Amino acid sequence: MGTRIPGRNFLFVPGPTNVPDRVQRAMMVAMEDHRSSRFPELSTSVLSDLKKVFKTTAGQIFIFPSSGTGAWEAALTNTLSPGDKVLACNFGQFCYLWIDMAQRMGYDVEALDVEWGEGVPLDRYEQILKADKQHKIKAVLACHNETSTGVTSDIAGVRTALDAAKHPALLYVDTVSSLGSIDFRMDDWGVDLAVSGSQKGLMLPAGLSFLGVSQKALAAMKSAKSKRCYFDLADMIKANASGYFPYTPALPMLYGLRESLNIIEEEGLQSIFHRHTYLAQGVRAAVTEGWKLKLCAKAPKWYSDTVSAILVPEGFNGAHVIDVAFRRYNLALGAGLSKVAGKLFRIGHLGDLDDLRLMGAIAGAEMAMLDIGIKVTPGSGVGAASTYWRTHDPIPKRKSSKEEQFYTAHSTGSIQG
Ligand SMILES: *Cc1c(COP(=O)(O)O)cnc(C)c1O
Repeated sequence: MGTRIPGRNFLFVPGPTNVPDRVQRAMMVAMEDHRSSRFPELSTSVLSDLKKVFKTTAGQIFIFPSSGTGAWEAALTNTLSPGDKVLACNFGQFCYLWIDMAQRMGYDVEALDVEWGEGVPLDRYEQILKADKQHKIKAVLACHNETSTGVTSDIAGVRTALDAAKHPALLYVDTVSSLGSIDFRMDDWGVDLAVSGSQKGLMLPAGLSFLGVSQKALAAMKSAKSKRCYFDLADMIKANASGYFPYTPALPMLYGLRESLNIIEEEGLQSIFHRHTYLAQGVRAAVTEGWKLKLCAKAPKWYSDTVSAILVPEGFNGAHVIDVAFRRYNLALGAGLSKVAGKLFRIGHLGDLDDLRLMGAIAGAEMAMLDIGIKVTPGSGVGAASTYWRTHDPIPKRKSSKEEQFYTAHSTGSIQG
């Protein structure tokens, strides 16, 4: 008897996300000489297109062969010295891990405890920065999208807090589960170090990390005394200047990145953000209106458009929902991590995704909840999501062209027929 499960695994963890077929095909390449005269075409084109995704013209982008965690480390060690004071806040597993890293690297971290389900506490940041008259704080950390709780923070607001305090600290932002899915503006928001990774909104396997670095952060590098070697930006700057890397680059990943950047360019960032909001709203309709359950995110201003963390009712274990979904329906949902282990399950809704595929995840989560005895109304999540999606537009409204106005005026029904 075979053990093969027919059909497709429904991958709905919030990273790694589904890799588009085009990207998979682009990665199937023969190895080549990364010191050839042709190689810089590839490296310079992906580096320059990544700038558009980070929305920076003034900053410089770096690519490392590591998961996102590597770029966290690169951001800290290239710009800080041991004992430097770092302001951070903890409202989820990824906040916690970055804080833990900063402590282990020998920085003096003031980590504010924030309830999981909320985001960066702007008023507390502003107070602390204002009180720091001697500018002892060198780094301010913020997680744009906390993947463990489904919370998005106001990064423009963090910049406003820094400016209100006239504080010169560098601003470090984790954009691993937001870049290319939720609007992020490195230059406009005065972000000095923007950390990201390949396996979420950029629709690639894990294996590349990205770091956007402002001119101010590049200047800070010169006096930063933390030990660094593999992640030393100085080596990278030297090699990148002629289109090469200081060590062997992950070639297939770079070809995959080239293709994912093409896909992003074709859809357009504005349309991509709109689609993620549209998809997320359908999931939130299923959770709150259909199932009558609660999100971990405590208020709409924190709602994440890339991942929803759904609290299971008292007396049930979120891990049980995930296990049944996986074994019975071949659906992979995200687990509750650390403090919220067992209390929730997560649906990732980012990357290469549309409403009908997402409907499969909603249906599967609903079936798994029913299977373990959670009293949601059968069909209620699917019904609420379908109502939302049928009545909203997945594509942003454009000013219609002359031609479209003509067709709209002269058609009796849908112009698609
Ligand atoms: C996925 C993720 C990371 C990085 O994790 P890696 O496994 O090292 O790629 C960092 N921060 C956030 C918010 C994430 O979602």
